[in-house]
Amino acid sequence: MNSNRMVSLLQDMVKINTVNPPGDEQKLAELLCNTISTYGLECKLYQVEKDRTNIVVILRGRNPTQKKIYFNGHLDTVPIGEQPWTTDPFGAEIRDGRIYGRGTTDMKGGIAAFLETMIILKESNYNLEQDIVFVGTVGEEVDCLGAQAAVKQGLIEDPGAIIIAEPSGLDLYVAHKGALWIEIKTYGKTAHGSMPSEGINAIDSMISILTKIKQLKLNDIDELLGTMTQSINIINGGVATNVIPDSCSVNLDFRTVTAKQNHSIMNKIDSVLKNLSKEQLGFKADYTILHNIEPLKNKNESDFIEKLKEVNQEMYGKGMESKGANYYTDGSIFRKHFDCPILIFGAGDTALAHQPDESISIHDLEKSVKFYLKAVDLYQESQIIKEMGMQINE
Ligand SMILES: [Zn+2]
Repeated sequence: MNSNRMVSLLQDMVKINTVNPPGDEQKLAELLCNTISTYGLECKLYQVEKDRTNIVVILRGRNPTQKKIYFNGHLDTVPIGEQPWTTDPFGAEIRDGRIYGRGTTDMKGGIAAFLETMIILKESNYNLEQDIVFVGTVGEEVDCLGAQAAVKQGLIEDPGAIIIAEPSGLDLYVAHKGALWIEIKTYGKTAHGSMPSEGINAIDSMISILTKIKQLKLNDIDELLGTMTQSINIINGGVATNVIPDSCSVNLDFRTVTAKQNHSIMNKIDSVLKNLSKEQLGFKADYTILHNIEPLKNKNESDFIEKLKEVNQEMYGKGMESKGANYYTDGSIFRKHFDCPILIFGAGDTALAHQPDESISIHDLEKSVKFYLKAVDLYQESQIIKEMGMQINE
């Protein structure tokens, strides 16, 4: 492994601002393409929108008909936030064995580790059967725009496994929660603050809605993912202390544990609004679905997944039990189209993602590369076992 090479690639990546919105991931995709081409890997860019480009990097195996291994990571990052940083968010400073900057953990570090893995395999003339393909996507942090485009653009074909390098603290996640983001708006009638009965108070209407939503029984439990969470993360309404507000809006963030839950929350909100409009004179409200991502699940009997768990226990003492993540990934989009194992494994502490002074340990990045190399080995073995099994059965 060439740790310096990986670190300097990650530093170059962090220095390119891909805060989403707007994303502007094209410059980063171009940097990756230019760098990676010098190591003899194939690279192609696929435009999604103006200045926003998915990237595909391919390491060819001997047998193009074999199911490919896909590595996936998103090129965008969340904004730097309101709280001050003690380091430059785009400076990629190294301090005490860690690289600092927006996206180091989530998830430019993971992308650098994937690409280092592919360069190592290329340089060592590894006896690779199937292609390994890295698909870098735009827009994961907002609406998974790039992953949806990647599927439409045919960038993922016949996958045997998809590994996503979101930060997992070197845990192997076989599932993650879904998300449902909803904006609710209420409408009223403005009046002087001294005569509330002359108006319809849109904030009062919103309080009625939120009270009902808080009372809803939405908590089915999933063995792996636990319970759903909900939080009100934006609220707007009113113009002055002495004016009855004629509009109010809130954004709700539900993190779901079953696909059924995504649907039932929408239905329940629908009926809350309908019932209130019957009960309260002048009540008017509507809602918009901003984002609807189902939880990711895997069939756990997969030989490949079990082997990876064993390896992770041997290498990093992570235990054999199945684990799931609270966040969502592009994996949820891929699951709608592909039946293969979809897994999350990456260096980086999830608690540092989206935070000021985001950073990643260089040593953990090296550990993740060792794991990816082992995963390629195990994938090849599991394919050979599958083929032998098929021959025996024939
Ligand atoms: Zn991420």
